[in-house]
Amino acid sequence: MAVETSKQVIPGAFSGTALRGDFPVFDRPTGSGQRLVYLDAAASSPKPRTVIDTMADAYGHHYANVHRGIYELSEDATRRFEQARKAVAGFIGAPSEREIVFVRNATEAINLVAYSWGRTNVHSGDLVVTTQLEHHANIVPWQQLTREVGAELAYVGLTDDGQLNLDDFEAAIARGPRLVCVSAVSNALGTINPVAELTAKAHAAGALVLLDIAQAAPHMPVDVSAIGCDFAVLSGHKMLGPSGIGALWGRRELLDAMPPFMTGGNMILRVTLEGAEWNTVPQKFEAGTPAIVEAIGLGAAIGYLNALGMASVREHERYLFEHAWAALHEIEGVRLLGPGDPAIHAGVISMDIEGIHPHDVATVFDSLGVAVRAGHHCAQPVMDRYGLPATTRASFYVYNDLDDVTALTDAVRACQRLFGGA
Ligand code: PLP
Repeated sequence: MAVETSKQVIPGAFSGTALRGDFPVFDRPTGSGQRLVYLDAAASSPKPRTVIDTMADAYGHHYANVHRGIYELSEDATRRFEQARKAVAGFIGAPSEREIVFVRNATEAINLVAYSWGRTNVHSGDLVVTTQLEHHANIVPWQQLTREVGAELAYVGLTDDGQLNLDDFEAAIARGPRLVCVSAVSNALGTINPVAELTAKAHAAGALVLLDIAQAAPHMPVDVSAIGCDFAVLSGHKMLGPSGIGALWGRRELLDAMPPFMTGGNMILRVTLEGAEWNTVPQKFEAGTPAIVEAIGLGAAIGYLNALGMASVREHERYLFEHAWAALHEIEGVRLLGPGDPAIHAGVISMDIEGIHPHDVATVFDSLGVAVRAGHHCAQPVMDRYGLPATTRASFYVYNDLDDVTALTDAVRACQRLFGGA
């Protein structure tokens, strides 16, 4: 497939080229003096001006501690903070904003479930299931939990083209696990997992399901109610919001029954010298002063994404993915990982360029203004599965366009020329 290089109009309701004007980072020349081609959204995304301005305004004019002050400024801050909670709930289809717990990031959300729900409900001899496709954040907390309580952790393996091995999945759930933990989209390969189907099967086997939507929520419509899962976790910084804020969604009856993860101020109703009575959900899980302005910033990011429309975001990235995959596929010496079928592959392309270490690739790319991630992407079991120590990963978002796809393929060829490859 030929890659167009003009100021194209990509299907979907917006132009990535035009959207770049909303992101101050693109005003910044790169070290090499070239236009910045940012292809690392899967690690963390740039922030649009509306998020930065909303946060500056919140700090400047609406800042006080929340849920504490009996004065107008504090009530104003609390209102904005709680509106952000409502925005997160609406964005992922949660039935109520009371089921949204603000945390620092997806990692903290998973740890919260592993410590609070896990240490209460997983016992010696029980089984927890995760997959070889997960980010370390959805593996290590389960390793720790199962080791500590004497339970077993089983992994669903991967097919050669980067999909979950469904036979493995069936075999694992047939053993009656307490919990199945799976990502909706893989950060390392871009695979989109059939999460509604997996959830239904896990439920039929009596397991609860924790969905890691850190790479799905920023890029496609996600509706946790329609999927039917029990917990979902996300990070604000991957979806145009600030770092330091993320969310755990859990079904109300589960959250109500779980003990707190951390204790202290805000999460209590009453403390005496003898003990304490917990606050209701979600405050029960939000000990101490929260990331107030970060939550408000996340609310602004969600407003920006909602205005674009998540179906359009998905369509935009799918178009870029198809062009990039086809163009890279034609380059000799480039091995592409993952399914490659745009119906089940998000805007993440992991590749190995024969004979060139990904760190060298990324350094050459950087000299051309192209920012990609090189490494194991916090998914070492995925790298092990495909016999690679690391890959070069390009990930698309709303501000990318076909010129960025061309910059990527040009950079691959430049790298090969430099290292005397194909
Ligand atoms: N899950 C997935 C699929 C991810 O891609 C990431 C980060 O890359 C995480 C979890 C962890 O996110 P954070 O580092 O924001 O906690």
